[in-house]
Amino acid sequence: MEPVHIIGGGLAGSEAAWQIAQAGVPVVIHEMRPVRGTDAHKTEGLAELVCSNSFRSDDAQSNAVGQLHWEMRHLGSLIMAQGDAHQVPAGGALAVDRDGFSQGVTAALEAHPLVTIDRGEIAGLPPAAWSNVIIATGPLTSPALAQGLQTLTGEDSLAFFDAIAPIVYFDSIDMDTAWFQSRYDKAGPGGTGADYINCPLDRDQYEAFIDALIAAEKTEFKEWEGTPYFDGCLPIEVMAERGRETLRWGPMKPVGLTNRHNPTVKAYAVVQLRQDNALGTLFNMTGFQTKLKYGEQSRIFRLIPGLQNAEFARLGGIHRNTYLNSPKLLDARLRLKADQRLRFAGQITGCEGYVESAATGLLAGRMAAAERLGRDLPLPPPATALGALVNHITGGHIVTIDEGPRSFQPMNINFGLFPHPDQAVTHGPDGKRLKGPAKSLARKQALTARAKVEMERWATGLMEAVPA
Ligand code: FAD
Repeated sequence: MEPVHIIGGGLAGSEAAWQIAQAGVPVVIHEMRPVRGTDAHKTEGLAELVCSNSFRSDDAQSNAVGQLHWEMRHLGSLIMAQGDAHQVPAGGALAVDRDGFSQGVTAALEAHPLVTIDRGEIAGLPPAAWSNVIIATGPLTSPALAQGLQTLTGEDSLAFFDAIAPIVYFDSIDMDTAWFQSRYDKAGPGGTGADYINCPLDRDQYEAFIDALIAAEKTEFKEWEGTPYFDGCLPIEVMAERGRETLRWGPMKPVGLTNRHNPTVKAYAVVQLRQDNALGTLFNMTGFQTKLKYGEQSRIFRLIPGLQNAEFARLGGIHRNTYLNSPKLLDARLRLKADQRLRFAGQITGCEGYVESAATGLLAGRMAAAERLGRDLPLPPPATALGALVNHITGGHIVTIDEGPRSFQPMNINFGLFPHPDQAVTHGPDGKRLKGPAKSLARKQALTARAKVEMERWATGLMEAVPA
């Protein structure tokens, strides 16, 4: 049988290769290290962890990444099996001995009779003779391949940095202070004229916010990243340093808006949040890309009236990161619409993190194997963590206004990507009305319980899958 070719033996490529081989299909991993290195990798091991050694929370009841761990273990993930085998103490998180983990993944793949590991760079688009390819070259995809992809998909379809603004759970925004309105009540394409959430600041609040931004601790760029400030993507703290009024003339300008709660008082500055997913559970802080440290972001953004209790699905950041505009370019099976023999997995698809990258590798691997075997693999249900993640990548993401190449941004798995619970979670098992953190916990537990049922149903269905 002709093999599946995987380019990149990182978190996603290694997991994809394992799934393909376990399905009985031969696979070749093309990994460029050690022939050619990246700016972050230090070894020649497969699935090297380039920074932290944590797979984050292992709580599968009330944490979205913990639920994803559970689903991956359920589906026979090599990354999770080796993570478990090389675990080091880390409280409720799953942290691993990075060398032992990478060596374990490498050894398992080297020992598999259906896996071939070919060390060398694929310096351009894959050869036309390869009919089933997974590209899993990650955030530091080599320039020659990135150039090939850019030529194939178009200039704007591949980003080389992410400039991420924080995303807030809608439930945690105080709508007694904030209000829905677009500037001048303008309805853009697909909009209603009330597409933004607005948070008003008076003069004292604005000045205090600027002071906090200027004094805050920032994350430095790595030497090899350069300083990728480009058109309209300045971090807010850099804007604040350039002049105390800069933000008031930029992303915090108060024009064209009337406070619905207090129409006679004009706000001195306004922070706007825009809907970020089709479900309306997530809102991003418009124009608030930042390099502030995570702890500082939570503290400072909660100074904004309306966000005093904000819960963040994702904090802001600016990193070197090669990723596709996936909702535009990929189909629901992670294949390039323009050339379906090419499938993508890992961080290059616009997911974020070790676990998420491996999870998309798992799915891409199973899909590629099913295709080789002439089988029909149904998509994972959107109520599972895996389904929610892939849905975000391939099109669940909504952009009502300002649609453009930059509007899709990488994201970790989080509860905002899951469909609402089937029934509103209002009361505890004791019949008492739930409020605050207890309500939020019960909601998360309802989402993970449903995800497990759906994942078990899907995984059972997979075994029964019949030739297409
Ligand atoms: P990778 O794991 O990077 O694997 C891609 C592989 O493809 C590499 O082995 C590379 O050598 C190979 N390759 C590239 N181009 C070619 C080519 N043309 N031919 C052949 N092989 C090629 N995530 C976290 O969860 N926690 C963190 O702390 C964290 N820190 C990070 C720090 C940095 C500096 C960077 C860049 C990323 C960090 N990430 C972190 C994100 C992390 O890299 C990804 O989440 C994860 O490693 C992505 O998995 P992947 O399989 O998509 O890519």
